[in-house]
Amino acid sequence: SVEFRNAGKSWGSNQVLRAINFTIAPGEVVAILGPSGSGKSTLIRLINQLETLSEGDILIDNRPTRQLRGAALRQLRSRIGFVFQQFNLYAHLSALQNITLALKTVHRLSEADATARARALLARVGLAEKADHYPSQLSGGQQQRVAIARALASDPQIILFDEPTSALDPETIGEVLQVMKQLAHSGITMVVVTHEMQFAREIADRVVFIDGGEILEIATPQTFFTRPEHERARRFLNKVL
Ligand code: ATP
Ligand code: MG
Repeated sequence: SVEFRNAGKSWGSNQVLRAINFTIAPGEVVAILGPSGSGKSTLIRLINQLETLSEGDILIDNRPTRQLRGAALRQLRSRIGFVFQQFNLYAHLSALQNITLALKTVHRLSEADATARARALLARVGLAEKADHYPSQLSGGQQQRVAIARALASDPQIILFDEPTSALDPETIGEVLQVMKQLAHSGITMVVVTHEMQFAREIADRVVFIDGGEILEIATPQTFFTRPEHERARRFLNKVL
């Protein structure tokens, strides 16, 4: 589980998240929705401490994480996968090598074991035949699927997505959403910042709506998309739907 306990984040005097309290159950799929600048990226980046908390704590499997440093922090991070809007693949490494790198250096797998695992992951995202292609030789959707395979390499319990389809051409968005859909049914905990409302509606167990650094609404997709409680959520939906 991931439990936000009165979590807050400020940059200088700019408080961008305040009094965040909610718990994500193991295996749950949570969509984070909200306008630009509302704090969505900051919220998920706090989970694996790509940003440091200013207030409160985030408990992962009931263990506070704010004080973790060094090896303990690295161990926590190794159980959390992260998929970025811009893929962040290494341009000088093939699809396969992008996945084997951390398996060999962080997880100390042999070349043969790392390669076998990476091939299995590429097959899982439908890219078995692209193992030796470099990022520049792959479409955006294919690159993002490699990035998802890479995020899964360490067998994380939690995977975080920050607008994974926002940088993609419309025709390749579907293939990435399809992979994410399969993943959602695999039992992994997923936290997805997305503007794909239809996807959130279909896949999420719960929707978290944030605006101005605060959670305004936590609801099932059925409730959120048909009768949102908050005026700001209604306005947001009127704009995006
Ligand atoms: P978008 O939908 O545009 O991606 P978002 O909801 O992800 O927006 P965040 O990126 O979390 O929003 O930003 C929330 C607020 O925090 C914004 O006001 C932003 O300017 C500020 N912010 C984000 N990162 C930093 C940083 N590194 N330094 C200072 N301020 C930051
Ligand atoms: Mg963002």
